[in-house]
Amino acid sequence: MTDYPYADRFEVYARLPEEGRPQAEILAELRDMAAGEDAFWETGKASGTVYCGDHDHYAFMTETYGLFGHANVLQRDMFPSATKFEGEILAMTLDLMHADAVTGTSPAGVVTTGGTGSILHAMLAYRDAARGRGVTRPNLVKPETAHPAFDKAGHLFGIEVRDAPADPRTTRVDVGAAGGLVDDDTIVVVGSAGNYGYGTIDPIEELSDLALSRNVGLHVDGCLGGFILPFGEELGLDIPRFDFRVPGVTSISADTHKYGYGLKGTSTLLFRDGSLRNELYFLHTGWSGGKYLSPGIEGSRSGGLLAATWAGMVALGRAGYRRHAEQIFTTARRMIDAVRSHPELRVLGEPTFLFSFTSDDFDIYHVYDFMAGRGWRLNGQQYPNAVHMAVTRPQTRPGVAETFAADLADAVPYARERHAAGAAPMSGAVYGGVEGGLTDEADGFIRQIMAGILDTHQSLPPARS
Ligand SMILES: *Cc1c(COP(=O)(O)O)cnc(C)c1O
Repeated sequence: MTDYPYADRFEVYARLPEEGRPQAEILAELRDMAAGEDAFWETGKASGTVYCGDHDHYAFMTETYGLFGHANVLQRDMFPSATKFEGEILAMTLDLMHADAVTGTSPAGVVTTGGTGSILHAMLAYRDAARGRGVTRPNLVKPETAHPAFDKAGHLFGIEVRDAPADPRTTRVDVGAAGGLVDDDTIVVVGSAGNYGYGTIDPIEELSDLALSRNVGLHVDGCLGGFILPFGEELGLDIPRFDFRVPGVTSISADTHKYGYGLKGTSTLLFRDGSLRNELYFLHTGWSGGKYLSPGIEGSRSGGLLAATWAGMVALGRAGYRRHAEQIFTTARRMIDAVRSHPELRVLGEPTFLFSFTSDDFDIYHVYDFMAGRGWRLNGQQYPNAVHMAVTRPQTRPGVAETFAADLADAVPYARERHAAGAAPMSGAVYGGVEGGLTDEADGFIRQIMAGILDTHQSLPPARS
């Protein structure tokens, strides 16, 4: 276990130290670790991950976090500020999602711990609402490109997950096929704005028609796009409507901790009709510890994250978000143009801020390999093999898009040569898909490798030698 992080440089704690250490010493160690880890994404060569990348903004939010980090927002009599922060985060996000267009119901929401938290809560609300109508074997219909959090919800909550195919050229869901999967036990249809793989937006208006005609809910996963696409529309980009202006949209997830530029640990889940949100309320009247109530899955939550998320949003304002969005869209456009300048490469669909590309001439993982050698951390995809780049603020720094274009221009001839030599790409085996899918045996083997990775991530410190 020699590669246990920092074992070579810092003390490893397998038990509480008997005497506490001086705070200054601990801070010095952590500053050292953080600076080292920040240095990589600061190059702009990491896809996604760090959305804001502005240390002043982080320091400001961290200071606001510190004021309330110890507050338990379950105890609102002691911490009424939590109601202000949460209510205003939700109101500001509902406004961004055009909840003003809603008539006849009262929009509402919850702040959750992240995109997965928002999606889990949404699916749970739909399941329980449907249960009230007598649905005992619920299913959800989602694009195959939708985030695995929907599969996780299915797994956790006993909801069958039905994957509707995406058009391979546009990467958008085939609405006719989705319709064919809807039946009386369907609790919700899902569309993404945009999806994580390709950054493209499903045809939400058509999904809305489907949902309305079949009398089911429509959840729009705006975890990724929720805080950037509205500003794209304001900037005049061709962004199709995906929010509450579309009448069949019954809920939206939008991540404050992605393009909302917040600290990690918050997301919003918004409902057209607050009564659906109230399905999430957990009310326990008979506990010996007293009456217990919580709005969702979590119990105690930190006031710090609410404060920091609220403060970050208010500090940026619409103009701040618009400014960041403009830089990101412009940088993404430059990078996409660089990809399109190579006839061997093909951008998947019509993305605006996150893009994915493949090749019909060679295995794209040759390009991935070369770019990795130049320090790029792109994301590998499968079905089809593709690589993706989520453009965030670190890429908007001067020179990054130009370096991407230059490195890509060297990657293409490299890929051509490797292909001609019949060589297999190094990273393809790790990230790429196998045509026709995996045999059960191979699937089991890959699952073992994946579990081994988690074992490493979750490992305890090595024993003292
Ligand atoms: C990131 C993402 C999620 C999941 O969010 P987490 O914050 O990682 O839990 C869901 N949907 C989309 C489209 C995403 O990009």
